[in-house]
Amino acid sequence: MSTETTLLRYMTRFRCIAERCEDTCCTGLKVPVGEAHLHRMHEAVANSPEDAAHLHQHLQPNPGGAPSERAFIQMRPDGHCPFLDTERLCALQRRHGDAVLPDICANFPRVVTKWGERVEVSGTLACPEVARQCLLEEDAVEPEPVPALSRYVPRPEAARALPVHEKDAYTFHAETVRAALLRLVRRREYPLASRLAMLGQLAHGLDGFYFRGTESFQGEARTGAEVRLSEELQRVESPEVLEAVHRDFGGLTLPGGPCVGLFTSVLRARMATGRGERFTTLVRGVLESLRLDEGGPADLDTAWRTYAERWHRLEALHGERVHRYFHNSTLHHLWRAPFTDTPSLLAYVFRLALRVGLLRLTLVGHPRVAELCLEPSPTAGSREQLDRAAVETFQLMAKHVEQAPGFLTLAEGLVGEGRGAETLGKVLVFAAF
Ligand code: SF4
Repeated sequence: MSTETTLLRYMTRFRCIAERCEDTCCTGLKVPVGEAHLHRMHEAVANSPEDAAHLHQHLQPNPGGAPSERAFIQMRPDGHCPFLDTERLCALQRRHGDAVLPDICANFPRVVTKWGERVEVSGTLACPEVARQCLLEEDAVEPEPVPALSRYVPRPEAARALPVHEKDAYTFHAETVRAALLRLVRRREYPLASRLAMLGQLAHGLDGFYFRGTESFQGEARTGAEVRLSEELQRVESPEVLEAVHRDFGGLTLPGGPCVGLFTSVLRARMATGRGERFTTLVRGVLESLRLDEGGPADLDTAWRTYAERWHRLEALHGERVHRYFHNSTLHHLWRAPFTDTPSLLAYVFRLALRVGLLRLTLVGHPRVAELCLEPSPTAGSREQLDRAAVETFQLMAKHVEQAPGFLTLAEGLVGEGRGAETLGKVLVFAAF
């Protein structure tokens, strides 16, 4: 059977920039090694006692874990891989070839997902070059069918297979539901904040019968539930409902100070775990520019007003550019992170809105962006600086915050069971930020 492969367009353009890269692939990541590959790594270094000892020393066994996670590479305290040499290249790869690399290193920064017989390839914004390609080009997040997966992915067999079972309505209808989410995000006649509120409404409409483990589609009830699902998707996409959500959402008053407090506590917590110099410099700069650093008055409401004024100024000066970053990264997220990984669609949309809010605060707090907001009018040079600040912000946040267990636990704690009107309310708060 032939495999249908789709790449997001930015990944057809991606080329590793190697020594010109401002980061190092593996720094700050958790690197699992699968069962089969564990044997291959030991075999590859068998003739080199020094490498064999080094490997033995830095592989942390995980015997009770899944076959794809039978060990982890123990990172150094500074977050760097112990196999990184002085030229920031992988010493194991250099001496023993590509075959020795664990799957995650071989495919990085590609994210390869298999839905049934279909394969999708996106990227992780934790790579600065992927972030540049994804955020800056207007057509970056268009899906593009390609004939040969192996041309773009070094190790296609390491694709993550999503469980899609006819008897499991949550995964079985996931592609249809995701297609509706993508269509809503593409409605660029509305601000992104309204589009996130529309996603929240859609998720809330499905909440009573479409979630992980639902029994609403069992047996004879199945046809009725499928009709209900289809009708609810159509209802939320109708022009009247979209207009009503946009209008009602515009009147929402936001508890800005507490949101700033929450977002900055996330940044501080991640900085405290020693995430490397680039991330620490960014967070320090953000806190200082919002006057929330140690020496400042730590007045959250004042910081909120600074944030809101700066955001409006940024939109006035560089609106099209800034909207593109957030539009592209939101579409990218829907492709890259399957919603079926969360127990309910509403919990997924909540996390998405939280992520957008956190990124907006960090971008607006970026010292270079703060300076750009003081300029009387935009120039080609200022746009370039803004692009650079955006790539740095999205990349460092993807690498050091978004997948961090502490951030995910916080998101889970905030969302609770992730169901009902209360969760929708929280989605709207972060969407409005
Ligand atoms: S982070 Fe991306 S661009 Fe940089 S070295 Fe790794 S793959 Fe190449």
